[in-house]
Order: sequence, then C-alpha cells, then structure tokens
Amino acid sequence: MLAQRMSLLSESGTAAAREAAKVAAAAGREIVDLAAGEVIIAPPKTVRDGAVAAIEAGINRYTDSIGLIPLREAVAVKLTASTHVNWTVDNVVITNGAKQALFDAMLAVVDPGDEVIIFKPCWPTLPSQVLLAGAKPVFVDVKGPTYIPTTESVRAAVTPKTKAIILNSPNNPTGAVYDRAALQAIGDLAIGYQLWIISDECYSSFVFNGHPYESIVTAHPGVRSRTVLVNAFSKELAITGWRLGYFAAPPDIVSAAKKLQSHTTSNANVIAQHAILHHLKVTDGVFEKGMFERLSRARKDGLAILARLADVPVPQAEGSFFFYLDLGKLLAKLPTRAPVKTVDDIARLLLEETGVASVAGSTFGDPTGLRLSFGAPPELLLPALEKLVGSLNALKSRQAAA
Ligand code: PLP
Repeated sequence: MLAQRMSLLSESGTAAAREAAKVAAAAGREIVDLAAGEVIIAPPKTVRDGAVAAIEAGINRYTDSIGLIPLREAVAVKLTASTHVNWTVDNVVITNGAKQALFDAMLAVVDPGDEVIIFKPCWPTLPSQVLLAGAKPVFVDVKGPTYIPTTESVRAAVTPKTKAIILNSPNNPTGAVYDRAALQAIGDLAIGYQLWIISDECYSSFVFNGHPYESIVTAHPGVRSRTVLVNAFSKELAITGWRLGYFAAPPDIVSAAKKLQSHTTSNANVIAQHAILHHLKVTDGVFEKGMFERLSRARKDGLAILARLADVPVPQAEGSFFFYLDLGKLLAKLPTRAPVKTVDDIARLLLEETGVASVAGSTFGDPTGLRLSFGAPPELLLPALEKLVGSLNALKSRQAAA
C-alpha cells in the first residue's frame, strides 16, 4: 500500500493534455501543440557552447548543493539589475528548476496544519506542494478580465493559521501581470499579518503591457526580509528540460535549502550550471530580445484572430505566453442536453476536430477557462488559432442541432 500522501496528488493536467496530443499525433493526426508551457525555439548558442565546453573540460562532479559560487554570484548580479534591490551570493540558491525552488521554500517556511493562500486559477503544482508539506491551500478566486486579486479578497482569506501567500506574476495560466498597487497591497498584508511571500516570477521576461516587469520586492522593498523570490532559466532561455532555476531569499532560507538539497537532489546538473554561467558571462542579449519580439508578434497576431470569437472575451494576455480564454458565456449558451458541456469537453473536441491541443481550465481549478500557449512556432500557431475560432464559433449551432 502506498503512503497516504500519494492520495493528495493527481497527475499534472498539463502533462495529461500533452499526452493526449502525443497519442493523437502517434495515430497519424496532424496536431498543433498549444498545451505546452514552453517556447518552441532553439536555446541560445552561448548556452549550448557553455555545455559542450563543460563536458569537454571533464567537468563531472558534484557541486555545492546550492550551486557553484560564481553562478550564484552571477544570478545575484542579474537579479539586482532586474529588481533594483541588492542581492549577494549569500541570498541565492541554484535549484533543479523553479519547481525545486518553490518546494524548498515551502518546506522551509510551512509547518503541517498551516494555511497557504493561492490565487485561483493556479498552476496545479502550487497547491500540490502545499499539500505535500502537510499544509492546507486556501484558494482566493480571481476573475477575468484582469485576474488580479482584490485586497479585500486576500484579507478575507487570512486566518491565524495563515503562513504564506504564493504569488505568480506574470501568471500561468491567466497571463495576468499584477500592477504596482496590487503588489503593494499584498506586501502590506504580508507585513501586517507577518506572512511569508513565495513569489514565482519565472515568466518575468515576458511582460507585454508596455511596462517593465516589476517584482514584488521592487514594488514593495519592505517585504524583502519575508520573501522568497523564485525564478528560472527554463522559460527565459527555452531550456525547460535542462532543469536550472534559482531563488533569492534571506540567508536563513538559503541555509534551509542547503540542508534540503543536500539530502534530496544534491546539486542542480553541473553541466547546466556551467552552461548558464557561460551564457551569463558572454550574452549580448540578442537571443532574449529576439525571443521577446517573436512572442510579442505572436501575441498581437494571435489576439487579432481571437478577437473574432463570439461569446468569448478577448484575453488581456499581459504576461507569460498564454492566451487564457473565459468560455463561461459560451458554455452557458450551449443547449443543456448538448454533448459538449464542460471545458474538458471543449478541449477534447478541439483536439479531435481541429488537431489543436489546449489545456482545460479545470486543470487550474477553473471550470470555464481554456489555456493556449503562444510559444508554438508562429507558422503553426496562427492557422491553429484560425481553426479554433472557427470551431468554437460553430459550436452553438452544431450543439443545438445535435
Ligand atoms: N512556475 C510556474 C508558474 C510554471 O508555469 C512552471 C512551469 O510550467 C514552473 C514554475 C516550473 O518551472 P521549472 O521548469 O523551472 O521547474
């Protein structure tokens, strides 16, 4: 018999959506994968060169469990520049992706029985990690079109058991980017109620609303001593499989992570660490700029196509690389006895009918959402969105006839 904690977990819905797409592709169908949480683009040459050089130099051994000191220093410099808050090597931990950084943070600050506030729709790993730490996720619903929580809704969720708030801006799945006022209000609450903030900023490179990305610690420097700022190279450099993330936090959290990682994974992959270190030393920023421009174009062209959807508001898609559709109005208009009733039905129908793989909002705790990645190659993305719009617009009449 398995341990009880296994009953707390279900398989990641995004992985399941991608699996369904793979099965359809293996059966010979032409599938466009808009379910993936990654940008389909070759990683920068500087990263690849750094990896090859590390292999050729015979670098094979363990590193310090929280990462190579020069890499931690380079990340501190990078974060200081992007957040306008001063970080040093003593604040930085290198992890196996943002996922491990988040889990380190959770295990370091949360006790069994504690409550952790999460804004929903949410990336499902967040509540799963809270549960694994023996704590209770407390969801605060956020609504379109902005998907930004109100101060009152956050305050109402705080109880004497609340230990932490998890933030994720730019957001997966909603594409929300919290404005300065929202970040400051959350910061004030965290200080007022003495809560930790675990801020997952791993989409920080992808903010399209014309403003520069703003971290919670930039908007509210007073929260720095109670914040674990999580980020990763996974999305930013299109190396999701290389597993390289990091966090910046007060030194006692760094010491906790050192213990945790020494007993769980040892260090993040040494070749990936050297590759990123090389990239950070020599990058001219051209790759990052090119990727941002490609995504900005894909977003603009994609939104123009999605504007033709009937009964579905055009998403704001201010950050990350997801269009998050609210299908509530469309679902409400479908005949009650129609075979398509839920967003899961719609995601399945889209895959069957148009070959477009998407992720149903139910994966994120939202019965009306549908997530589409615009990280797919543009030549595939735009025709796929055209087909999707055609299919969704035809749905009402076809369901009525069914
Ligand atoms: N945080 C969010 C909000 C994500 O969407 C993801 C991946 O999809 C991660 C963290 C995980 O990042 P990594 O691959 O660096 O572990």
